Amino acid sequence: MFRIPYGRQEVTDGDIAAVVEVMRSNWLTQGPAVPLFESRLASYVGAQFAVATNSATSALHVACVALGLSAGKRLWTVPNTFVASANCGRYCGAEVGFVDIDPDTYCLDPVALRMKLLSAQAAGTLPDVVVAVDFAGQPCDLDALLELKNEFGFRLIEDASHAVGASYGVHRVGAVPGVDVTIFSFHPVKIITSGEGGMLVTNDAELAATAQRLRTHGIQRPGDPLLDCTQGAWYYEQQTLGWNYRMIDLEAALGESQLRRIDHILARRRALAERYVELLRDLPVTLPHQRSGRLSSYHLYPVLFSDAAKRRKVFDGMRAAGIGVQVHYMPVHLQPYYRARGNDVGDFPVAENYSSRTLSLPLFPTLTDDEQVEVVDTMRGLLK
Ligand SMILES: *Cc1c(COP(=O)(O)O)cnc(C)c1O
Repeated sequence: MFRIPYGRQEVTDGDIAAVVEVMRSNWLTQGPAVPLFESRLASYVGAQFAVATNSATSALHVACVALGLSAGKRLWTVPNTFVASANCGRYCGAEVGFVDIDPDTYCLDPVALRMKLLSAQAAGTLPDVVVAVDFAGQPCDLDALLELKNEFGFRLIEDASHAVGASYGVHRVGAVPGVDVTIFSFHPVKIITSGEGGMLVTNDAELAATAQRLRTHGIQRPGDPLLDCTQGAWYYEQQTLGWNYRMIDLEAALGESQLRRIDHILARRRALAERYVELLRDLPVTLPHQRSGRLSSYHLYPVLFSDAAKRRKVFDGMRAAGIGVQVHYMPVHLQPYYRARGNDVGDFPVAENYSSRTLSLPLFPTLTDDEQVEVVDTMRGLLK
């Protein structure tokens, strides 16, 4: 464990009290806490439906199944993400392809996407689902992606695991019209936490109902149409194959308690990000670029060095000094699993170049001003 990690949860006495209250109640799981967290998160982002799961990974899987992804179909995503954004396609037996990133935002590049779509159209291999990632908390280029969605007919999943509380224009992430499903993660390093946990958010009632069945073994919910309506109250019906991907009440109570102070959490993250701009002014690093009209939730603070050797030197030196810097991300297409499926070095040069030079600096709500100065001073010493 590093003295100053790159990310860390903040758990208050209020959070602990909320979890203890559930422990003393009649339900550890499937009581009132999960639906409460779902409705609070849906109204916070301005979406109609929210379906809680035991991780964002399972929410991504459920979203893909609900959107009809299956063997023989195709999912595309970016190399600059956590492996889960790609793996959800493989869980469905679909082929996973990648699209390079924009060199300024490190998110999916709509120009690269258009080029790949045009050649896929000619080859008859258009994707069924595109997973766009709001990298580091900055919403991706949704206007451009939605235009391409209309032109080429794929479904769009916004992997907003980094971006609870971010905004795109007048909308909070999760409520941008045209996006089919948005996914949030509540892993402890993310913006708010439920321990482990995720949420699938949508304005599509049918999709939400399907997701609810899929996270509970594929069993029909109360009120869903049954094939046999003559049975007693013991009766339930499984019409499709699902999983046990449920969030439990203990987790939901923690998540809902954290959501109550999300404005404070986001304000502190944004203040720290602004301070980094000042503190790093005289250092030879490229700072993350925010496009206008987008409000990042600042999950990560990735800086770029001039070359891979400098990044390595600073990474090793910072870690030796107890500062847990990290690399987000190693390109997913270069993971052995995806190399074995036809990807190679050089396929996505922007993401590969970015990945070889990037370093995420500590950024979390309880990082103190003094610790932040120490992070920058340590880096300054290593760059001399
Ligand atoms: C963390 C993360 C996930 C997976 O979240 P879990 O809740 O840990 O399953 C998926 N996609 C991205 C971009 C992430 O950062």
